[in-house]
Amino acid sequence: MVKQANSVLSGFGTTIFETMSALAKETGAINLGQGFPDEDGPEDIRAAAAKAFMEGPNQYPPMMGTPDLRQAVADHNHRFYGIAVNPDTDILITSGATEALADCLMALIEPGDEVVLFEPLYDCYLPLVLRAGGIPKFIRLDPPSWTLEPERLAAAFSDKTKLVLLNTPMNPTGKVFNLDELEQIAEQVQKYDAYAVCDEVYEHIVFGLSRHVPIATLPGMGERTVRIGSAGKTFSLTGWKVGYVTGCTELIARIAKAHQFITFTTPPALQQAVAYGLNKGDEFYEKLQIDMQSKRNYFKYGLENAGFETAACDGTYFINVDIRSIGFTGTDEEFCRLIITEAGVAALPVSAFYMSDNAEKHFVRFCFCKREDVLSDAVTRLSDFFSGK
Ligand code: PMP
Ligand code: GLN
Repeated sequence: MVKQANSVLSGFGTTIFETMSALAKETGAINLGQGFPDEDGPEDIRAAAAKAFMEGPNQYPPMMGTPDLRQAVADHNHRFYGIAVNPDTDILITSGATEALADCLMALIEPGDEVVLFEPLYDCYLPLVLRAGGIPKFIRLDPPSWTLEPERLAAAFSDKTKLVLLNTPMNPTGKVFNLDELEQIAEQVQKYDAYAVCDEVYEHIVFGLSRHVPIATLPGMGERTVRIGSAGKTFSLTGWKVGYVTGCTELIARIAKAHQFITFTTPPALQQAVAYGLNKGDEFYEKLQIDMQSKRNYFKYGLENAGFETAACDGTYFINVDIRSIGFTGTDEEFCRLIITEAGVAALPVSAFYMSDNAEKHFVRFCFCKREDVLSDAVTRLSDFFSGK
């Protein structure tokens, strides 16, 4: 008889990203489901990787990351947020933000610890928390404003809270937590002597008057926070899987204990290229922000013209629409299946990002980090389909 696999992980199906991308491929639909840009990031960064692949380094780099990349991450922290860290001890390079999250959760959670999570939440959070033995405590955010309700925040924390997992700018909502909300979260974290694990992979994709503030910069939070970034998002190279974790020396040392047994290292040639990328001038980061904001504006306007009400979107490359606004009465999942097969556009049901009972079922997420002609084609297809053309 075959023995059972681990029950926590085998209880989860294939991720919605993989499922919808496969369906989009099969049907030839425009894929605005899974989040990835349709244009690769800067050529000079890719050239730096190609050079490093040919000339080396290609053997195991130091476990904590190459010195050049750790220095570049430290400089980046200082340039954008005034965070001063020691590149030798306070930075860990990982194989993507996903590995960074796994490292942090494996390293910090003891079975039975409570972990505060915001719903809707990114897909790998809950499986990793549960696999580490954590007990999830959800704080629900509701569309279209995604506002944090103080009572829900307070109710999620207790003496058993080990950490809060905070994603800002937030996938799938497009929410950027404001200073007031961050202060409220920081207060709870300190009250219960907990940690904050912060997934900030969309740190440079923030629109209008919103600002990305790492919670690590708030008073009293530096020693209890780790901040996770990803080259995949910042340089539009999602397949590269190079992540970076910044925190105080003691916390990084603990998290490195997980990293050394999970991947141990990350391809050094990619690390060299990402170091080069992070050192780019401010104009690179400004252009990324401007380009993404113009895509957001273009797509949002197109959707609204087609009759959709959109939810607030102040950051990331995702925008959500209320499917009831065009008279659709079914669930978000039914809507996604309908538009992929009948209109030729793929989106993701937001209910897939709610793990507790009572999932929100009337919103779908579109990814807009695509060329304008692609976004325009997608809007035309949706508009034609729903107007019966
Ligand atoms: N966190 C969030 C919120 C994301 O959207 C993503 C993108 N897939 C990740 C983590 C994972 O990043 P990476 O590809 O660097 O592992
Ligand atoms: N982060 C991307 C998204 O939310 C894709 C992640 C993935 O495919 N695992 O769409």
